[in-house]
Amino acid sequence: MTTRGTLYTVSAPSGAGKTSLVKALIDNTNAIQVSVSHTTRAMRPGEQDGINYHFVSQAAFLAMLEQTAFLEHAQVFDNFYGTSKQWVEDTLASGMDVILEIDWQGAQQIRKLLPETVGIFILPPSQATLRQRLTNRGQDEQAIIDRRMRDAKNEIEHYVESDYLIINDDFAVALAEFKAIITAERLKLGKQQNRHQTLLTSLLS
Ligand code: GDP
Ligand code: ADP
Ligand code: 5GP
Repeated sequence: MTTRGTLYTVSAPSGAGKTSLVKALIDNTNAIQVSVSHTTRAMRPGEQDGINYHFVSQAAFLAMLEQTAFLEHAQVFDNFYGTSKQWVEDTLASGMDVILEIDWQGAQQIRKLLPETVGIFILPPSQATLRQRLTNRGQDEQAIIDRRMRDAKNEIEHYVESDYLIINDDFAVALAEFKAIITAERLKLGKQQNRHQTLLTSLLS
């Protein structure tokens, strides 16, 4: 029987490095995938529909909400974001681990629904660095950056609700820490017992 995958939420204030860290992790870790959210926000330069997000109109988003297509959803800044229920359920059932890059409101909904979810929070080393990263990313207008900086504190206040905390100062260090969390979760007794049933039985015979 396939062991069900582990579900992770990764939350952080905008610009803390969540997307970069998740991408780097996925690119060289087996059996883990990131969920592609639906959003009503405008596509940024370089983003691709179906890769970064499923970009949908507000009407389409609300229709999906009506059909209970979302495992969780939230309004972040002035846009709606939601996680596809079917994709997450199918992927976990296939034995893959799944990462949700979602805001604190979404993480709270997921934790209530699926208490075994592992929550990871990513913080920048300072406020100045956060602003610098949002500016360097060069994808948002100044007014949007100001808005995201104002909302950062609101997101940061929720770090206490997570299981793990990563400070993304040196990228390589933060990535190694992120990987260590995934490895530790995979070594938990219950998971190992499922994975190595035959070995454990034979060692005890
Ligand atoms: P970024 O954080 O600067 O990359 O900005 P984004 O526009 O990609 O994401 C904005 C916010 O929406 C972040 O706080 C995300 O965590 C959150 N978000 C993205 N997708 C989802 C989702 O499917 N559900 C929820 N609840 N939040 C999401
Ligand atoms: P988020 O998804 O949390 O909004 P991103 O992954 O888009 O954040 O990162 C924001 C910007 O900061 C990007 O331009 C990214 O390349 C950069 N960045 C991420 N982590 C680091 C780091 N440790 N050191 C320097 N720059 C970083
Ligand atoms: P951005 O628009 O910059 O890509 O993302 C802004 C915020 O939306 C990020 O903090 C991101 O985590 C959050 N976000 C992205 N997708 C989802 C989602 O599906 N659900 C929730 N709740 N938040 C999301």
